Amino acid sequence: MIRVGVNGFGTIGRRVADAVAKQPDMKLVGIVKTKPDYKAKIAAQKGYTLFGVDDKSIQSFKDAGYKPGGNVENLLSQVDVIVDATPEDVGAAYKEMYRKTGKKAIFQGGEEHDIAEVSFVAQCNYDLAKGKQFIRAVSCNTTALSRTLHTLDQAFGVKRARIVIARRASDPDEPTKGPIDSVNLDPVTIPSHHGPDVQTVLPHIPIVTMAYKIPTTHMHLHSVIVSLKENGVTEDRIINAFKEAPRILLVSQKDGIRATAHVMDYARELGRNRGDLYEPAIWKESIKVVDGEAYFFMAVHQESIVVPENVDAIRAVTGSASKSESMAMTNKTLGILN
Ligand code: NAD
Repeated sequence: MIRVGVNGFGTIGRRVADAVAKQPDMKLVGIVKTKPDYKAKIAAQKGYTLFGVDDKSIQSFKDAGYKPGGNVENLLSQVDVIVDATPEDVGAAYKEMYRKTGKKAIFQGGEEHDIAEVSFVAQCNYDLAKGKQFIRAVSCNTTALSRTLHTLDQAFGVKRARIVIARRASDPDEPTKGPIDSVNLDPVTIPSHHGPDVQTVLPHIPIVTMAYKIPTTHMHLHSVIVSLKENGVTEDRIINAFKEAPRILLVSQKDGIRATAHVMDYARELGRNRGDLYEPAIWKESIKVVDGEAYFFMAVHQESIVVPENVDAIRAVTGSASKSESMAMTNKTLGILN
């Protein structure tokens, strides 16, 4: 059993913790929480051992009637791998602690690429991560773009990619963040950071991205244009390439799916934990080839798409399973169909 701890129990951390707890080859040793809120309460009900950040935080758990397992260092001493799901830049502050203990760590996409030895997307570069100490599971948008561009690159060759990303304003548990009545260019300048971030996984793909924030909480929407190297590629061949690729979902307006809200409603019907959708959803009817350029719309569930990557990264760093074994195990436990 791979012993795993999760530091940071917000949007990503609580999902990764639940996913780890489902793996037959992993044991969730505990999770680090800053304070005893409703997320801590439910984690305790699930039987997860809670660890505090510092003495004050540990005391707040004791005052609320919990029996905390100690602090981050105490958790670290009991694990083989720590998944750092703390907010952007906080992971960097923890890195020295992880390094000193020699423990392997999986960071998230809010951290810089150079925090880790590999920026990771399982189907693109699992083997590069084998045996490394520090891995970065890239952001939600980078994960979706890496999976889809890698698929097109393997099948037809990608000459270049151009993407406009409409980003959700905040996650559902962040009611004080906006915009509420505006579309915010984020950033105003072009390119946005997403293109260079995709190149941390797929360095050979020329890519330019631009992004803005819209007043929703549930998904990002990508408008993608990809120039293909192979001539004469048809829409059907692209659909087949996406069908055969792992962790990509094709959706159709024929099924009444015309909006991100429909995609999330569809995901809830799938019955996975929290109604999460681990795959980017590509509208079949949006796939169009014009003058050697492939067009499509893709929706990304920002809260959950990186969860399977975190699970696979744990196996990659410990060298406990091959890419295909790990991805199959992760898919089976999370209910991912391909
Ligand atoms: P979050 O704010 O929802 O959760 C972070 C958690 O860490 C919170 O519970 C917070 O209380 C806790 N925390 C704060 N300081 C801490 C400390 N010093 N020690 C331990 N815990 C601490 O953040 P998130 O959205 O889960 O993001 C975590 C990482 O995942 C970031 O790098 C982010 O960029 C990345 N990410 C986020 C999303 C998303 O859409 N939310 C998607 C992909 C990747």
